[in-house]
Amino acid sequence: MPSETVVCSGMVERIGSDEAVFTFKSGKGKIKEEGAIGSHRAGLKKIADVLLDAEKGVLKNSAEVDVVGHRVVHGGDSFSATALVTEVVKKEIKEYATLAPLHNPHNLEGIIIAEQLFPQAKQIAVFDTAFHQTMPVKARKYAIPNELYDEHGIQVYGFHGTSHKYVSEKAIAYLKKEESKLLSIHLGNGCSITAIVDGKSMYHSLGFAPGNGLIMGSRSGDIDHSVIFHLVHTLGYDLADVNTLLTKKSGMLGLTGFNDLRDIQTEAGNGNAACQLALDMNAYRIKKYIGSYTAAMNGLDAIIFTAGIGENSSVLRKLVCTDMDFLGISIDDLKNETRANVLREINTDDSKVKVLVIPTNEELEIAKQAFELCG
Ligand code: ADP
Repeated sequence: MPSETVVCSGMVERIGSDEAVFTFKSGKGKIKEEGAIGSHRAGLKKIADVLLDAEKGVLKNSAEVDVVGHRVVHGGDSFSATALVTEVVKKEIKEYATLAPLHNPHNLEGIIIAEQLFPQAKQIAVFDTAFHQTMPVKARKYAIPNELYDEHGIQVYGFHGTSHKYVSEKAIAYLKKEESKLLSIHLGNGCSITAIVDGKSMYHSLGFAPGNGLIMGSRSGDIDHSVIFHLVHTLGYDLADVNTLLTKKSGMLGLTGFNDLRDIQTEAGNGNAACQLALDMNAYRIKKYIGSYTAAMNGLDAIIFTAGIGENSSVLRKLVCTDMDFLGISIDDLKNETRANVLREINTDDSKVKVLVIPTNEELEIAKQAFELCG
């Protein structure tokens, strides 16, 4: 930094399973190993070992690392910006674990392990919620008694902020339009849509926790809360069952039996009606949010598709953007089908609204924010 040169990159997937996958890429070649990696500690230790390895590594010693940037999912009301990790910051991340139990404890563990592996480095926390701190109160509050907001912080916090910030800044630079109305649609395993006015998050589809809004890999998104009461009172679910049902067994998985959108598309192409219906439901949900946020913003300059599905699924993009001419949205099939790992426009020449595919890069955004903070 600041040249943004990637020295090496890598990933540890499926931590806790016997089939964990470790990948690493640098100027010295690629490594891929499969096998058991039991914990986040073991995963991060593996990364540190390869970084420092005399043959395959890129560092002479751990002191060469000046800064470690961490993605932290929930920063609640306390963090509207990236923060240098202190004992107080760690305590707050721990406290917000009650709001993000699947994420914050692991994020904190990563920080603690990185402090041990790179003791000379500054640790920086980049919060997924921070970008959404600009949302107006009318979009943050739920219509429940005020004390739950005032005293207990029950409100929309919003997530995927690092990604929405990164791609919306790219779009603003590409469109050369500081004053703009954008919809950033992040479609990965988790999915969300953010309405961004003049570079600031205004409305957002995830909520108090990352479960509301769009249909996700295994999360239901929007659901009438009376379904939950019916599950408990009539069908005998307990609350833990309901939680597992709505976060791990629903969404595209619950509708089709498949988690990966590639499988669902292949099945739909082979005539699997449940898979086709799930794709149609998914696109319909996204369309509803596009319509409602366009109305709330009173206009729309561009839609951005990003993350694993948004960047790669021409099928879903086409379903979403079909029959949207009323809103001035029209896509070019050939451009939509063309694959490329760079920012691209897929709208027709006469489309009033630009439709952009922008590869997200949360690691780079975290690095940029950490670099800015440390100077
Ligand atoms: P995460 O939220 O875990 O970061 P990603 O952004 O990596 O998720 O997105 C994962 C999703 O992207 C998976 O559902 C996967 O099926 C989908 N995906 C990846 N490549 C393709 C592709 N070529 N076509 C359709 N979907 C894809």
